[in-house]
Amino acid sequence: MKRPRVRDDLALHPGYHSPQVEVDVRLNTNEAPEPPPEGFREALAAELAGVEWHRYPDRAATELREAIAAHHGVQASQVFVANGSNEVLQTLCLTYGGPGRSVATFEPTYALHSHIPKITNTAVVSGERTEDFALDMDEVRRVLTEHDPTITFLCSPNNPTGMVETEETVRAVADLAPGLVVVDEAYGQFAPWSALELVDETSPIVVTRTYSKTWSMAAARLGYLIGPTWLVEELSEVVLPYHLDAVKQIAGRVALDFEPQMRRRVSDLVEERGRVTAALSQLPVTVWPSGANFILFRPDAVDGDTVWQRLVERSVLVRNCASWPRLDGCLRITLGTPGEDDRFLDALTDILETS
Ligand SMILES: *Cc1c(COP(=O)(O)O)cnc(C)c1O
Repeated sequence: MKRPRVRDDLALHPGYHSPQVEVDVRLNTNEAPEPPPEGFREALAAELAGVEWHRYPDRAATELREAIAAHHGVQASQVFVANGSNEVLQTLCLTYGGPGRSVATFEPTYALHSHIPKITNTAVVSGERTEDFALDMDEVRRVLTEHDPTITFLCSPNNPTGMVETEETVRAVADLAPGLVVVDEAYGQFAPWSALELVDETSPIVVTRTYSKTWSMAAARLGYLIGPTWLVEELSEVVLPYHLDAVKQIAGRVALDFEPQMRRRVSDLVEERGRVTAALSQLPVTVWPSGANFILFRPDAVDGDTVWQRLVERSVLVRNCASWPRLDGCLRITLGTPGEDDRFLDALTDILETS
């Protein structure tokens, strides 16, 4: 059989994996613990009855972008939507990256911020965060001056550490950056402030958001960006025609009618974050303060892989970061329902006591 080889530059990179194991309690991918609110399914079904299935969808996703713009108090022309915020990031790399160009990341951070540039043949230049995972402005200056990246990725709250960048930090990075500064706010609703307030027509700052976490819609694959109009226009030229299907456009718009319920869920999760952080602090583990819906921790005396495996044996799945660079022995737990979190805390307590 004649079979082409994968592109040479791709063959060097491993893919992105998050093991899906059959368990009772899944706290590994930072989704919302509950399905969308009461009334969402019915409202969506009613609207879907009007879909003209034989026609291509609205290529500009006008109604959805208008609804997102109203939600954030910006113009629809400043909103770019795609199939998950990962596709937003990919479109940014396809538009402003490519051969001879680079993207900057500061590790540890979201793995896809370096994976997506690689698959678009964009070089990745990585700086290191400090011991406590904060941005070090000298290191930021060094990376940006040495490499002149067209995109600098920040993530706030940062996945997997949970750390929120301050407004001062984001402004300082934007001042130093030679190109765009993309602030990935997949967990923005859980944080005390948003870089959305820094977006305007003359600033290089763009903010990405997703329906996958706070909106309980990971299954829909929908994300978006708020940025200057010129950038939205440029991205729209690069993305595939009709990339966003009619069903998704409607689902994203209908979801925004349930904003009060979403806000209540966010505040419940923020409260739960306090409870679980306090409980973890009573155990022999190091816990990092989080501004998101997940918590990074490291068992003091038992190896992270072992704890992860023993949690799986107790039917609790968390994210194993133990072998990731800079995160030696760390695990990340997504906040679930109080019942799920108790299952996790009981299992962890048991494991640490008997190891
Ligand atoms: C989960 C997550 C996303 C979400 O990506 P989607 O493609 O919208 O599901 C984006 N960025 C970060 C940092 C995440 O953790």
